[in-house]
Amino acid sequence: MGRHTTPDASQHLLLAHFDAGTAGRATHNSVITTNASRTLTTQSLEVSIARGKVQLSHSLAIATMTARVTKIPKPAEADPAPRFATAKAPAAKTIGQLQKISAGCRACDLWKNATQTVFGEGPSSAKVMFVGEQPGDQEDRAGHPFVGPAGKLFDRALEEAGIDRDEVYVTNVVKHFKWVGERGKRRIHKKPGSIEIQACRPWIEAEVRIVQPQVLVCLGATAAQALLGKTFRVNTQRGQLVDSELASYATATVHPSSILRAPDDAARQAQMEAFIKDLKKIAKLVHSSQGS
Ligand code: SF4
Repeated sequence: MGRHTTPDASQHLLLAHFDAGTAGRATHNSVITTNASRTLTTQSLEVSIARGKVQLSHSLAIATMTARVTKIPKPAEADPAPRFATAKAPAAKTIGQLQKISAGCRACDLWKNATQTVFGEGPSSAKVMFVGEQPGDQEDRAGHPFVGPAGKLFDRALEEAGIDRDEVYVTNVVKHFKWVGERGKRRIHKKPGSIEIQACRPWIEAEVRIVQPQVLVCLGATAAQALLGKTFRVNTQRGQLVDSELASYATATVHPSSILRAPDDAARQAQMEAFIKDLKKIAKLVHSSQGS
């Protein structure tokens, strides 16, 4: 995003942020300040750039102005490129190596407020890989995935479905805990953003490369949309098999934490039963593919 000012302060003191590379529309959410007293957003403005001039046309015809444009240097932006993870993850040959290397990852800012990297766990020979969103409060402290309340519920559901947790690989798309504020002693989880998910992606890709699961199961919308596509909707597509380069079978179901958030016991019970049903399908899939 470019940043431009006009020296014509008496008439149009203008501070505009917009894409400078091409004439045309300013980017969504750009801010334009005129006469230091009016701020217009580019949702209602069209901006064109030609011959060193910027033309701003208000769609409601409230303001039209032309001003000289002087470029000022582009402000430094945080580099979202996951260079550390991109550089280091492909080199690892074992999950142990990945765990060790990822402990020093600084590819996004999440490490700053987290206790430690919480990497995936389970046998490298696992047929099934479960992928959640990110470690929670207890996982962050313990350094292990799915050991908090949602993890305990997950264990119960796996057992009911006839899946041995010791035989599956369990991980998250983001390896550091993101949180905002505290409630009592518990820190409140915050959903990771797309930059963080993207920065962390080399780690999950490396886990998949090493484990080569037959079945990849995303737990919740964040993991599903990160790995199965942005248009995936867990509410309507849970349990469906989708094509994926990551595994022979790829699917998604809810995150166990969503069951804990059910409004009452009856709803929680119904959601737990639906979750177990999804897991039973996965168990059946693994057994049938082993038999074939
Ligand atoms: S969240 Fe992922 S990418 Fe960000 S610092 Fe942690 S391990 Fe690295």
